[in-house]
Amino acid sequence: MATVLLPLPEDIARGARLLRAAQRIVAFTGAGVSTESGIPDFRSPGGIWSRYRPVLYHEFLGDPEARRRYWRMQRELYPTLAGAQPNAAHRALAALWELGRLDCVITQNIDALHQRAGCPPDCVIELHGNGTRVGCLQCGRTWPRAEVQPRLEAGEDDLRCEACGGLLKPTTVAFGQPMPERELREAQRRAAGCDLMLVIGSTLVVYPAADIPVCALEAGARLIIVNLSATPLDDRADVVLRGHAGPTMEALLAAPAARLEDPPSA
Ligand code: NAD
Repeated sequence: MATVLLPLPEDIARGARLLRAAQRIVAFTGAGVSTESGIPDFRSPGGIWSRYRPVLYHEFLGDPEARRRYWRMQRELYPTLAGAQPNAAHRALAALWELGRLDCVITQNIDALHQRAGCPPDCVIELHGNGTRVGCLQCGRTWPRAEVQPRLEAGEDDLRCEACGGLLKPTTVAFGQPMPERELREAQRRAAGCDLMLVIGSTLVVYPAADIPVCALEAGARLIIVNLSATPLDDRADVVLRGHAGPTMEALLAAPAARLEDPPSA
C-alpha cells in the first residue's frame, strides 16, 4: 500500500461509539477486505475485470472454449489466492468474535481468509462459495483446489473428474449460477437480527448479496460502511469510513470510545 488512507478521527470516534453500543454485530465483507492481502478486487483500476472477461455459468457448461478461458484465468490467479495471508481487517473481525461481539461474518469472498484469521467456520457465511476446493458438477465429489493446480500447469485446460468424467469447477458461484439458498436465507436472517451492520470493502452492487445490508437497515440496525469508494448505501449509513480496511478497522477497535473489553452499553 503506497499511501494509507485513514478516515477522520471524529468519524472513527462516531463509529467506535456505535461499536460500543452494539449487542449483536454482523459484518458483511467484499473483495476490498482482501486487497491488502494481495488479492485484487474486481472493479477497482487494475482489478480482475480490467484483465479478464468473466465466464458466465451457462458458457462454462456449454462451451469448451469458454472453459479453457476460465481455467487459464484460474491457473494464473490461483497462486495469489493460495499464498495470501489474512490482513489487519480480517484479524480485527476475528478479535470482535473473540470478544463475543460479532454474531457472524457474511462474505462475498471465496478466499477463506476470515476463517484463517480465527473466525470459526460456522461464524462465516460464504455467499459465493469457497475457492479452496473443486467439485465435480456430475457426481458431487470434491478435492482441494491445490490438487488440480499441477494438472493445469501440466497443460490440461478442460478439467474432468477422474471418477466419473464430469466437469470439474471450483466450489465458487460463477456469474449466472444460482446462489446457495441455505446460505442466502441464513444471511438474511442474521442480518435482520443484528443491531449493527458493518460493511467492509464492497461496492454493494452485486445482487442479491448487496441486499443483505438493506435487510439489516429495514429491521432497524445501524450501519457502518468501511470502503475506499462510494456505495449506493452511503446516504443511509450512520457512519461512512472512507479508508483502507486494515488500518481503519485497527483504528476503530483501538479508539477509546469503543471500550470493547466492557459490556456493551448505549
Ligand atoms: P468489488 O471488486 O466490486 O469492490 C470492492 C470494493 O472494495 C470497491 O468499492 C473498492 O473501492 C473497495 N476497496 C478495495 N480495496 C480496499 C481497501 N484496501 N480498503 C477498503 N476498501 C477497499 O467487490 P465486491 O463488491 O465485493 O463484489 C464483487 C465480487 O467479487 C464478489 O462477488 C466476490 O465474490 C468477488 N471477489 C472475491 C475476491 C476474494 O475472494 N478475495 C476477490 C475478487 C472478487
